[in-house]
Amino acid sequence: ANEVLGFIGLGQMGSRMASRLLDAGHALVVFDTVEACVAPLVARGARRAESPAQLADLADTVLASLPTPDIVRAVGIGPDGVLRGQRARRFVDFSTTGPRVAQQVAAAFAERGRASIDAPVSGGITGAEKGTLAIMVSGPRAEFDALEPVLRLVGKPFFCGEGAGQAQVLKLCNNLLAAAALAVTSEALAMGVKAGLDPSLMCEVINSSSGRNSATQDKFPRAVIPRTFDFGFTTALSLKDVGLCVDEAGAMGVPMVVGSAVRQMLAVTSATFGPESDFTSVAKLVEGWAGV
Ligand code: NAD
Repeated sequence: ANEVLGFIGLGQMGSRMASRLLDAGHALVVFDTVEACVAPLVARGARRAESPAQLADLADTVLASLPTPDIVRAVGIGPDGVLRGQRARRFVDFSTTGPRVAQQVAAAFAERGRASIDAPVSGGITGAEKGTLAIMVSGPRAEFDALEPVLRLVGKPFFCGEGAGQAQVLKLCNNLLAAAALAVTSEALAMGVKAGLDPSLMCEVINSSSGRNSATQDKFPRAVIPRTFDFGFTTALSLKDVGLCVDEAGAMGVPMVVGSAVRQMLAVTSATFGPESDFTSVAKLVEGWAGV
């Protein structure tokens, strides 16, 4: 319990996870490039660091939730990164950034006798808020065991293997499925609505039938049918995830015909509604094409 935790990247997900660590009584050091993300946690007792390296001088375990592979690489092993800090023994990356960065970061940490764990999460901002995220973890088993109590504060950890990046592959597979479900549900509901069906009724019936999925059960009822488009996950991040997935699959010789189409739908959604639009905006795109 004397262990000091650090958290880098206090956005939609990170702010909520960091908040739970504070609530549990952990000493916490925080860093984000956006001051507005740092201030609320500092007001609640977290200590502020000025860089990832400085944060790693103050914390034993450093957790991160960051947007892209390049940012994770820089924050982890860059010139002012966590690996430059004197105190931190362990780097835990909650971001979805694919297996390659996880492997690079893990190799650099291992070279210095430290550990890096990839621990991508699923469950969205609601899961982050309530501490019910699914956490997919790969890395040395002993590190997983040591970390488990902290991980349990933010969700349910699953050990996915010792190989760096394996959890990232599993996470990319999950997000491919979630995005594909959203895209194809958008097509199915546009057709139904054009035929005069009520979209809420459609979801209700489908959720008792074999077509049910995370879009019919959650995204449409919560963010598309009420026209709020505020599920809490940006088009840019979904496009990044599906792009990483299709690229990795290509490198591995795994064809992804449907995945490639979903990637293009997200690219057009981003071009049409902006990268910061909610990824449920893909439904608006399809509605526009369908003329509903
Ligand atoms: P976000 O953009 O809201 O948060 C990212 C944070 O990182 C921001 O506060 C940003 O200021 C900060 N940041 C950017 N560059 C930085 C740097 N160099 N140093 C320090 N901080 C920096 O994104 P999010 O939605 O919280 O997602 C974070 C990660 O979690 C992503 O990899 C995403 O794919 C993944 N994820 C998100 C969700 C979701 O529903 N939002 C669900 C599961 C996984």
